Amino acid sequence: MQRTIRLKLTPSPAQAANLAETSRQFTAVFNAVCAVGWTQKITNGVKLHHATYYPLKADYPALVSDLLVQARVKATEAVKSAIALQKAGRKVGMPVSDACPPRYNVHTYRVDWESQTVRMSLIGGRQTIRFNIPDYSAKYAGYPVDSADLIFQHGCWWLHVVVTVPTPEITPTDQVVGVDLGIARPAVTSNNHFLGKRAWKAVEGRLFHLKRALQKKGTKSAKRHLKRVRGKQARFRRNTDHILSKQIVASVEPGAAIVLENLTDIRKRTSVKRKTERSRRVHSWSFAQLKSFVAYKAEERGCTVVAVDPRHTSQACSCCGHAARNNRRSRGRFVCRACGYELHADLNAARNIAAKYHASVARRDAGGLTVNQPIVSIPRCTRRAWARVVSSIAASQDWADWRVSGKGFSITIPDRTRNEWPTVSSERTTHGSVRRGGSLTPLPMRRGAPRRGDTAAPPCVATEPDARA
Ligand SMILES: [Zn+2]
Repeated sequence: MQRTIRLKLTPSPAQAANLAETSRQFTAVFNAVCAVGWTQKITNGVKLHHATYYPLKADYPALVSDLLVQARVKATEAVKSAIALQKAGRKVGMPVSDACPPRYNVHTYRVDWESQTVRMSLIGGRQTIRFNIPDYSAKYAGYPVDSADLIFQHGCWWLHVVVTVPTPEITPTDQVVGVDLGIARPAVTSNNHFLGKRAWKAVEGRLFHLKRALQKKGTKSAKRHLKRVRGKQARFRRNTDHILSKQIVASVEPGAAIVLENLTDIRKRTSVKRKTERSRRVHSWSFAQLKSFVAYKAEERGCTVVAVDPRHTSQACSCCGHAARNNRRSRGRFVCRACGYELHADLNAARNIAAKYHASVARRDAGGLTVNQPIVSIPRCTRRAWARVVSSIAASQDWADWRVSGKGFSITIPDRTRNEWPTVSSERTTHGSVRRGGSLTPLPMRRGAPRRGDTAAPPCVATEPDARA
């Protein structure tokens, strides 16, 4: 596995000037290639190379060829993603960088761990520069290096070096741990760990209101202040994401599967207003960073990380599967209306997430859907049509066999009907669970009012993959 470590360079004043000049010329080349790629809409690296290499080599003769090529490689990526975003309908401009970090590789730098020096190609020729290894990087020092980025940050020069570390050999275990990013606590795992601090929400809220007040003010000094607050918020989020991901990974056994809710682009994927629910979470900000932190920390412990669809995980009962909005009595308390099961609300959600993964693995093994798919969804179902499904399932003998309690999952229905649940007795609830490994296949339904004789054929057929029942 690969890890990026930061080496702090301690250059002489002359070397520092060379580093700065290299960085400046690299950035200039990057911007020049971006301009060509963007205006002529070239996203092919080879074509961009042919179009720009010789003119730029003439303009920047002191920059070694490989750095020129690396600047073109970085620019190609930037142009490619900008054009892809533009095609997706987003408003994007030509990629421009103030300081594009020069990328070093086997041709342009060599690290000597023994003497703690790096020899790298700069504008004034090859230079040997001393470096210090920060304590947190020390355990990865000495491994074979891949590429490196040269970064100037807070008045210091850093080399971000990618090292290849041997992957620990850990055999996967059967443990599956669901993680809910909760409303009462930042994260709750299905094996009863309550992680993170409640106070985070208050810090996040304070920064949010401060930012909004400064944006409203709009003066020059308010903008300066705003910039500082933005930096503070980003560092705060980064720090909490690191703490939370570390705790999540530490709470499972090596080789386990960690199941997260897939909250990426949730606003795009769901038509309903999810914003209120998102802001109610203690961990209300971007999910992508947390997920990436969990992923790389999990790799070291031989854990796999998967994401499942988060719909209804906070409303369904982890005991019987009954899903209703009013199951959730208050922030922290979950009481099932059907079976009376009572549990911490976030813990209940975490168990549902783990159960969703179990169910999707069973489906995948049976050649069915992949992990991120909803378990059972009946899209675009009118209230009356849903009532028809309910009565049919309740009437079908298959269903009676399947209404087994235990760790299970609920049948999902469209969000817009969630306040209009058809009344069914708890004995014959259609929102009951299907036993782990079971699957319920919805058949296509006719639109409109039910006609006489429709209930003869059940619209849902439950199948039994497990012979033990
Ligand atoms: Zn229940």
